[in-house]
Amino acid sequence: MTMSALGEPCVLLKLGEIVLKGKNRELFERRLISNIRDALQSVDVKVDVRKRHGVIAIFLPEGATAEQAEAVAQRVADVPGLVWIHRAWRVAKDPETVLKAGLELVGESEEAKRGARFAVRSRRRDKRFPMHSNELDRYVGGAINDEYGLPVDLKNPELTVFIEVDRDEVFIFTGGIPGQGGLPVGSSGRALVLMSGGIDSPVAAYRMMRRGLHVDFLHFSGIPFTTSESIYKAYALVRKLDRFQGRSRLWVVPFGKAQQSIRNSGQDRLAVIAQRRLMLKTAEEVAHRIRAAALITGDALGQVSSQTLTNITAQDNAVELPILRPLVGWDKTEIMAEARRIGTLEISELPDEDCCSLLAPKRAETRAKIEDLKQIEKRLDAEELCVQLADSIQEYTL
Ligand code: ATP
Ligand code: MG
Repeated sequence: MTMSALGEPCVLLKLGEIVLKGKNRELFERRLISNIRDALQSVDVKVDVRKRHGVIAIFLPEGATAEQAEAVAQRVADVPGLVWIHRAWRVAKDPETVLKAGLELVGESEEAKRGARFAVRSRRRDKRFPMHSNELDRYVGGAINDEYGLPVDLKNPELTVFIEVDRDEVFIFTGGIPGQGGLPVGSSGRALVLMSGGIDSPVAAYRMMRRGLHVDFLHFSGIPFTTSESIYKAYALVRKLDRFQGRSRLWVVPFGKAQQSIRNSGQDRLAVIAQRRLMLKTAEEVAHRIRAAALITGDALGQVSSQTLTNITAQDNAVELPILRPLVGWDKTEIMAEARRIGTLEISELPDEDCCSLLAPKRAETRAKIEDLKQIEKRLDAEELCVQLADSIQEYTL
């Protein structure tokens, strides 16, 4: 037995938008818990993930170290659907034990050593608890004040002791790290991301994972006319993004020859859009094969000539599946900041020879006509070509 009043270490998770769900809420929660369990496979401690009312608790085994608790917290911080992750303590459900735990938690904190202003914030999810929240605040706060002489500051505390009275236990903690927010991956279905080696598409993938999509990644390489560098980059990006969803797959289409035929079709100014439509058609074919219900791209309105409103319309026209463009209203600086935050920017900025560099007309069409594009596609036999391209695909599983 330890002499500590702090009971067992645990990690307490606060759910995001899920709490707004009505009847479906339970489905979302089950998905989230299953995602959390999957994510924690990579952490070397056996945990017990439990649903409580409006929160999820992860209990660590007795004797688990602070490092292990931290590793669990850090890992779940990447799982979409959570807004806060607290390293907490699970203590017995009586005011005296809670008070002792509060004293110990504050006594150990760096803030207390600096004489920080503090507050206690209690809430009861179980109203049968003998004290009201306000009473509990004053009871524990008063003791902390007596013991350490710290000043109380309810408006702007430097240290907050959170006490949450739950059904079977009380959780007590002082800090937390923000989660990813959004919805649990998988709760919105499956989609296919068109993934270049650039900055935008990995961010687009991340944003859609956060809206509950599990995504596969599709990369078009310039092979056999380029090196494999862009594939390595795409692979590195997928590895970086896998922590948000797990079980990621990268599909690579050797696209060089198809690009050559587009270039040879003589329609220089339309080549980029014609190529993008062929990519989308191929992606649609692949999506059907892997049962993905939408395509995702990193397009942002007006960012480059292929992303004018006219040209985006011409791309939508190429396929029947919806094309999701989460970055459509984002500035490049915003996209870059997000890429830096999720750790993909430095990979995207590595040099590579994307297949697109094979097609760089002097002047690209900003108002491509769909009829002209269809003419090119007829000559290429695009419908057949995209089936062949989908047949030549290679899978890279993480
Ligand atoms: P990114 O930074 O994502 O490469 P970008 O600003 O370079 O985007 P484009 O090259 O016009 O813009 O590409 C627009 C979108 O088309 C990309 O976000 C991506 O979804 C898709 N795309 C472009 N090239 C490829 C490729 N080689 N393989 C797969 N998808 C691609
Ligand atoms: Mg690109």
